[in-house]
Amino acid sequence: MSVLVYVENWGGSFKKSSFEAVGYAAEVAKAKGTEVVAVCIGNVNGDELAQHGASKTVVVAGNETFNAAQYASIISEVANGVGADVIVMSGTNNGKNLAPGLSIKFEAALITNAVAVPSSVDPLTVRRSAFSTKGFVDYKANSGKAIISIIPNAIGLLGEAVSGVVETSSASGTSDMEVSNVETASGKIPLPEAELVISAGRGLKGPENWTMVEELAELLGAGTACSKPVSDIGWRPHSEHVGQTGIQINPNLYIAIGISGAIQHLAGVNGSKTIVVINIDPEAPFFKAADYGIVGDAFEVVPKLTEAIRAFKANS
Ligand SMILES: Cc1cc2nc3c(=O)[nH]c(=O)nc-3n(C[C@H](O)[C@H](O)[C@H](O)COP(=O)(O)OP(=O)(O)OC[C@H]3O[C@@H](n4cnc5c(N)ncnc54)[C@H](O)[C@@H]3O)c2cc1C
Repeated sequence: MSVLVYVENWGGSFKKSSFEAVGYAAEVAKAKGTEVVAVCIGNVNGDELAQHGASKTVVVAGNETFNAAQYASIISEVANGVGADVIVMSGTNNGKNLAPGLSIKFEAALITNAVAVPSSVDPLTVRRSAFSTKGFVDYKANSGKAIISIIPNAIGLLGEAVSGVVETSSASGTSDMEVSNVETASGKIPLPEAELVISAGRGLKGPENWTMVEELAELLGAGTACSKPVSDIGWRPHSEHVGQTGIQINPNLYIAIGISGAIQHLAGVNGSKTIVVINIDPEAPFFKAADYGIVGDAFEVVPKLTEAIRAFKANS
């Protein structure tokens, strides 16, 4: 029984989360003594997936527009075709949308938010993040088939290069749902995939003061985020709201400016590898979760930080 990995692409390009999923699948396959088959949907060149451990890549051309029902049907068809009993995928925005329907189509157990490779493959036992990322739970799949959805940027790149082949498939799937319109936010780095995130809260006093946040983000090539009240009052779009009720992110660097660090905010960001907090109040709860803290007025600290980074980049 092989391991199938669904590898998401964005207009034909892969992201780090795509390669992470392939590497994770390679680890599962190694433990099971089998091989990894990757499946991509759309007009993709699947050659590079062998570099991350896929010994076979199946490209299902067409269907470029993400449709969760259609994709679930296609992936399930390919999985059954190659005799897979485990499907690995990344819990990106689309991945979260896709996974539940796929588990129904494939008639498999679904373990989401995985943060580690399985501790056992018989029975399949996987550690997942739980309680709004404040704890972990080990899930055991008691079914014959299982799907593991991993948190993007939580595991890293594990796979090793193998020699691989690329095949095309005419799997078409079925769907009783149609995507009638797609609107994408142009020029922005999508938060769930951002490696660096600059976030600000009510401490910034008003929407007019976000220029300095955007300037710093642009300099670093970072995504921008905000606390819930900031998007609730309309200072920033809801698509930037991170936390328990917003987007959950796992960047390498999270810089929080003028955010108190309420538990509901931390629930969405404490998977960040490094957290830097800038707050005027030395007692702000966020400092307890910070790797680095700057006690100071954001209106003084942020421009100085931007200036220092600009000078550093100019000299390096
Ligand atoms: C059910 C529920 C779900 C929730 N979900 C979320 C969620 O998903 N995400 C979320 O963010 N919140 C969420 N909240 C709200 C959360 O509890 C907090 O109220 C919110 O995170 C606070 O936002 P804030 O830190 O921007 O504002 P505040 O709490 O007002 O904090 C502002 C901070 O800015 C600092 N500050 C002020 N002036 C300056 C300055 N000049 N320079 C530097 N620092 C300054 C202050 O010291 C303070 O720490 C939720 C609440 C509930 C009840």
